[in-house]
Amino acid sequence: MDFTFNDEQRMFRDTIYRFCKEEVAPLCEEADQKGEFSMEVWKKLGSMGLLGLPIPEEYGGSGADFTTCCLAGEAMGHAGIDGGHTLALGAHTYLCAANIMEHGTEEQKKKYLPGLATGEDIGCMGLTEPGSGSDAAALATTAVKKGDKYVLNGSKTFITNAPLAKVFVIFATLDKSKRHKGITTFIVDRDTPGISTGNPMHKMGCKCSTTSEVFMEDCEVPAENVLGGEGNGWRIALGGVEWDRSTLLSPFLGGGMFMLENCARYANERRAFGKSIGEFQSIQNRIADMRVFLEAARLAIYRVAASKDNGVMLNPLLASVNKMYVGDKGFEMCSAAVDLFGGYGYIHEYPVERGMRDAKLGQLGGGTSDIMRMIVARFMMM
Ligand SMILES: Cc1cc2nc3c(=O)[nH]c(=O)nc-3n(C[C@H](O)[C@H](O)[C@H](O)COP(=O)(O)OP(=O)(O)OC[C@H]3O[C@@H](n4cnc5c(N)ncnc54)[C@H](O)[C@@H]3O)c2cc1C
Repeated sequence: MDFTFNDEQRMFRDTIYRFCKEEVAPLCEEADQKGEFSMEVWKKLGSMGLLGLPIPEEYGGSGADFTTCCLAGEAMGHAGIDGGHTLALGAHTYLCAANIMEHGTEEQKKKYLPGLATGEDIGCMGLTEPGSGSDAAALATTAVKKGDKYVLNGSKTFITNAPLAKVFVIFATLDKSKRHKGITTFIVDRDTPGISTGNPMHKMGCKCSTTSEVFMEDCEVPAENVLGGEGNGWRIALGGVEWDRSTLLSPFLGGGMFMLENCARYANERRAFGKSIGEFQSIQNRIADMRVFLEAARLAIYRVAASKDNGVMLNPLLASVNKMYVGDKGFEMCSAAVDLFGGYGYIHEYPVERGMRDAKLGQLGGGTSDIMRMIVARFMMM
């Protein structure tokens, strides 16, 4: 067992960190204040190859392994990129493009991956519906086979990137009575008649990612756009949420480091009762707890990445432990950072307020902490 990164991995992480800190993070502050997705940020991430990192080179990506993808996510968060833009990247790269990369036919990969790898085409993944989130297998969007087409009817909600997306990965059921066994995945182009998106939803945090409903009304999708074969949708959905519970969490780790560095600096600078607040034991305890959380989170995240790089593609127990731990403790850490800044912690101009708003999503998106506990307990009682 080796817990160290090699020189190449360290250099990669440092290069992404420096680029993002100098060229991207300043744009993110402004975008978050406005609550808007920034195309300039997106293009910069694309120019560094970050939007197509795991996609094989032959389709325009870099063919990076899971560990490298996590290093990139960590570097982006550490540099101060907001949770909205890293969420947009996560939904695009890991929920849309990676699903096509892992389950697509050669024709599908050639058609969709090059545009997604550069970020010119934006991708999204629609599993959640107004009536089913945690109980995703109860989804109600129907697909009915009609000749060489499938007709989709239904709606999705909370879909990251939907307002901007050109490529939609959509889950629908061919037979609702079969629950997860009836689910099939489809690639739907934005210009397919019958697909449309709702108004962008206004969110508590991750404000620079766009989120909306997706509607399908007699939306005819050619049979060649079935992803991974009929009835395989649930397996694809589970694989997708595992990206969510591993690689997509790495910006939280980097974001935590960004918060901790800001807290340490502030603790040295801010004075009360004639000394720096960092001299008070309660402030030191908060800083120590943050560091301990980040060390444990690093092990949890890279352990899932290493397990995937070693060929274990589905590891729901580890992924759920990871998601619950980083989600719950990450939010606790960000809340402690706001406390450490006192009243200034509540004000937009200071970096910790945004971090706390963004971190809340870690307990909700991609499966709530309740659901993660349920999965872990199920494994323990099998
Ligand atoms: C900003 C944002 C972006 C998102 N992006 C996407 C996306 O790109 N694609 C996508 O498909 N989805 C996306 N989602 C949806 C997200 O994955 C769901 O919101 C999440 O899985 C929870 O589902 P729900 O909102 O329907 O809550 P519900 O399932 O209605 O849960 C409500 C409450 O009940 C609890 N609960 C439910 N079942 C159980 C149980 N068995 N045991 C204990 N407690 C339970 C939950 O923990 C929660 O507290 C996004 C959500 C948000 C907020």
